[in-house]
Amino acid sequence: MPILTIESTCDETAAAVIGDDGSVMGDCVATQEELHEKFNGVVPEVAARAHLERILPVIDTAIRQAGISPDDLTAIAVADRPGLAGSLLVGVVAAKTLAMAWQKPLVSINHLHAHLYACQLACDKPIYPCIGLVVSGGHTSLYRLDSPLDLEYLGGTIDDAAGEAFDKVGAMLSLGFPGGPAVSKLAQSGNRTAHAFPRSMIHEKHFNFSFSGLKTAVRYAIVGPGQQDFSKIEMSDSAKADLCASFEAAVVDVLVAKCSRAVKQFGVRRLVVGGGVARNGYLRDQLTLSADKKGYSLVIAPMDLCTDNAVMGAIAMEKIKRGQFADLDLDITPGLQRGF
Ligand code: ATP
Ligand code: MG
Ligand code: FE
Repeated sequence: MPILTIESTCDETAAAVIGDDGSVMGDCVATQEELHEKFNGVVPEVAARAHLERILPVIDTAIRQAGISPDDLTAIAVADRPGLAGSLLVGVVAAKTLAMAWQKPLVSINHLHAHLYACQLACDKPIYPCIGLVVSGGHTSLYRLDSPLDLEYLGGTIDDAAGEAFDKVGAMLSLGFPGGPAVSKLAQSGNRTAHAFPRSMIHEKHFNFSFSGLKTAVRYAIVGPGQQDFSKIEMSDSAKADLCASFEAAVVDVLVAKCSRAVKQFGVRRLVVGGGVARNGYLRDQLTLSADKKGYSLVIAPMDLCTDNAVMGAIAMEKIKRGQFADLDLDITPGLQRGF
């Protein structure tokens, strides 16, 4: 029997219906990008209110697409961690209410584990053991995975996430929100060696990351120290492209280096990569080159399952198989220590 999955951790309101065999029977994502664009970032209060308006229509759409009635559901799963508190609350309260009204068991989903599970959804065979990288708007975290639910946290960003750095660079160049896709598009025609931006911690043996220094270096390349006003910058399109290409190369070099070192150090043969920044073409290309050169296999989440969606909530099936259900007093966990 199918399950209903609900996702509202940040600024996408999403629901999916997943069949017993893992088939996607219903899938609905309502994005809020247009609401946050003028602020150049997600405004938590705005996000929570928009989730509130959208959550029931989105769930209704997913169930209608699946052609089932709520009676047919085996369970209701919801991402309860990590994310924005107000956003998480809307999904969790909706899931708990429906679980109670429809008399269905509840399952909790870790959003970051779900980002990695998107890679399993692209494969016929189990992808474990492997190294997993979540590279998204709020996280840049490396794990060793023995199963979808057995993860060891190896390290993560100590300041900005890679996606956040993309978004901030996009904002500095007035490229709209989220900046990642626009920065990546401009980068395609730029020179990756035009600016010698820092590759923080690239040679250090641990698996932590830092992208805030890189963000500041880009800032100084645009306006110079002390200047605040980005609206008056005069840069040619080719200068912007060079900046984006050099920035993107700095991010990707660090990600690729740390991932391939982790694969070697932990003696696994596979790397899996999920999260919104995994949509980045240059990252995908460089990871592929590294995997070919070093002889490990690579699974990157399918493009439509990189950014937030409820289909990756199919990880709930793995919890159901193990009898791991949540109680109706399930609460949100906005911040996570060490990615758990
Ligand atoms: P988290 O998963 O950490 O809670 P999130 O859910 O907000 O954060 P995602 O939806 O996984 O993040 O990803 C959104 C991020 O992906 C944004 O920062 C966006 O700029 C980035 N992104 C999307 N496409 C690209 C791209 N082509 N290149 C670089 N970054 C991209
Ligand atoms: Mg988003
Ligand atoms: Fe996400």
